[in-house]
Order: sequence, then C-alpha cells, then structure tokens
Amino acid sequence: MGLGKPLIRIPFATELLPSPTTIPSTARSLPGALAALQVFFTSSSSPAPNGGSLGGGGGPTVVLTGAGLSVASGLADYRGTKGTYRVNPAHRPIYYHEFLASHEARKRYWARSYLGWNVLHKAQPNEGHYALQKLGGLGLVSTVITQNVDSFHTRAHPEIPTLELHGYLRSTVCTSCSAEFARDRFQQELARLNPIWAIFLEDAIASGALDTGSLIGDRVRHFRGGIRINPDGDVELPDAPYTTFRYPACPKCLTNPPANGVVEVDQDGAWSPTRSTAGILKPAVVMFGENINNGVKHAAEQAIDGAGRLLILATSLATYSAWRLAKRAKDRGMPIAIVNKGGVRGEDAFFADLDPHQAGGQGVRVELSTDILLPTLVENLQQSGVRGLGRTSGPSPPLGTAPVRRGDAPFKDMLS
Ligand SMILES: [Zn+2]
Repeated sequence: MGLGKPLIRIPFATELLPSPTTIPSTARSLPGALAALQVFFTSSSSPAPNGGSLGGGGGPTVVLTGAGLSVASGLADYRGTKGTYRVNPAHRPIYYHEFLASHEARKRYWARSYLGWNVLHKAQPNEGHYALQKLGGLGLVSTVITQNVDSFHTRAHPEIPTLELHGYLRSTVCTSCSAEFARDRFQQELARLNPIWAIFLEDAIASGALDTGSLIGDRVRHFRGGIRINPDGDVELPDAPYTTFRYPACPKCLTNPPANGVVEVDQDGAWSPTRSTAGILKPAVVMFGENINNGVKHAAEQAIDGAGRLLILATSLATYSAWRLAKRAKDRGMPIAIVNKGGVRGEDAFFADLDPHQAGGQGVRVELSTDILLPTLVENLQQSGVRGLGRTSGPSPPLGTAPVRRGDAPFKDMLS
C-alpha cells in the first residue's frame, strides 16, 4: 500500500463547486443539523473496517479539517465567500520547484511571509478547534487530520493526535540538510536583515491593518494597496519591492556545508546568490508541487482505516491529498459527515448509496459554519451522556486487508 508512492500537493481548479444537497433533508435548520450529527456520532450501524464488528458507537471518529475552520480565527480560506480565490481570482500560490530554483521567488515569498507570520502568530484557535478538544475528551474523536498549516489544532487539543497533512508554518526546514528551526527565531533574523521591512511591519501593526479581526474588512484593502493574509500564511502586497528582501541561510549548513553544495552569506549573514547552491530554508509546509511527507501520508491512511466514521469539517476537499482520504473512508463503507459552507469535491459520490430515510447514521451533509455548529453539538452530546470508545478502542487493523479500490473510473478525472 502506497508507502513508496509519492503524493504531490496540487491545487485543484479554482472554480466554485456545485451547491450541496443537505442530508438528511431535516438538517437544513440548525436544530435539524445538530440532531443529524448526534445520530451520526451515536449510531452503532457503522460497519467496522475489515468487515468485523466494533463495540457500541461503531468505532472512533476521525476528523478531517480544512481552511474554513480557521476563518473564525481571522484567516482567509481558499473558496469561502471571502476566500483567497474568490477575492482575488488571479491568486497563484508559489510552487515548490519555483521556490527551489529562484532566489527572486524566495525573496518574494519570504517578504510576504514575513508580514503574514505576524498575523498568524497573533491569531488564536477558535470555538471550532476547542469543540474538537471536547469531542476528544468525550472519547468521540480519535485523530484529527488537517490540511491547515496554522498549528491551531495542536494548540487547541494537544492531547488528540493531529496529522498535519500539509506541514506547518511554525518551523522552517533546510532543503539541503532537513534540519528544522523555529519560525520565531527566523522571523527575528528576517527583521534584522530587512530593517526597512521591519519598519513597514511596525507601521502596519500600528495602523491596525494586520489585526486578524479586520483582515477581511474593507479597511484593509485601503492599506497600501491591500494586505490580505492567505491560508498559507503569506499576504498579498501588490508592487512591493521584493527584490531588496534578504533571508538567512541554514545555520547548520553554514557551519557544516553539505558535501555537494556551496553556502555563502553576505556580510550580514543573508544567503548570497552569487555562488550558493545549498542551505536554503523553506517553510515546513508542503508547498504546491511538493511531495507530502510519506510518514504523515501513511499515518493518515492508518487513521482512516482504524476509524468507524469520518467527519469532514470546513474543507471543499479540493486538494487530492485530502479528497483521497474521504474516498478511502467511503470505499471502506464508513459513514461520512460533511460540515462545509459551499460545495465539496465529488460529494455526490459520498452520499449516493444512502437510505433516503436514514437520520444521520449513514451520512450527514450540512452547510453551516463550524464555529456555530460544533460548540452546540458538543453541549448536546455532553447533556445526552454520550461517550465514545475514543482512541482506547484498540489497535488499528493491519494495513492491506481492506478492499480499497484504486483508480475507479468515475474518480479518475479528479486526480488533479
Ligand atoms: Zn541545512
């Protein structure tokens, strides 16, 4: 199973997906949605992986989250009503190969990220993240798989295992020696190497333009052509003088150069493009066009295989790496619940075979905000005395034993 097969993070088409059909139809209202999700969490009808039987509650729930979950924390998502691709259809994220190949592209990336980090660093997990912590406390959530790189999950619920499918912004990683460094320290270095940008950042902070609460407001768009943070932690800065930006080299490679590379810095310690071929730091996120870490990919597959059901929150599943996990759960006959505003890639296939009279035990699709829905759901489940088996429900089944089909024709054209 797939251990040696690289999985590349690729952005999907940016056009909007069709509006969803609410399932069950009673879930259009908030009380109806809450009732359906309660049935979803408490139904014992979930088939176990490998066709065996699980205890009451049908096995633990794995949660798969996306950028929409962090909107209530003040970050933009990709395809929501104020998402990066809706507000700025021309937005094009940097690709891994560009980052590696081009000093100019790296200058541009780090300048934008220098400003974006400040926003992200001040932003906090929201009610949605803390609701997951409580669901974990009730034994209802065993693992969270997230596409988000903002570290809100690990901050809000450190006790629930979290798999960060697309990495994390809290560290930088060297593209030569793979050493990781704290982003805070790197940020200080960027400020030291770019004093004019540091003043610009101070101005932006003083004017309130980088306050998370105002980022999606009109006020921001008037600030020097507009500052808007993207889900990957960078900001839009039209016509900014990126070309003067400087960034440090990997400190480890600098003192201990790799055998096949040259690392040179200028008098201040900035990476020098003249002869350098190594020691380039990148954010510890999986950039578009970059392979997903094999260990994380494998662990996410195992988490799905060991689960009784899958709850998908605040993502359109536009990236293949996330969509394939939902497909995997579906192939294993797992009930799937999706809470997302706006359409989800291939969602009809996830719900095509449900009993039209089911109340949520086989599947749920609601179009509501997670920060509104989840806290109330937690309260309802607590009041009902619902407890799950959580992550103490036993070891994951061995890999390779379930009938996971690959390359099914209807899904082939979605391998974006
Ligand atoms: Zn290094």
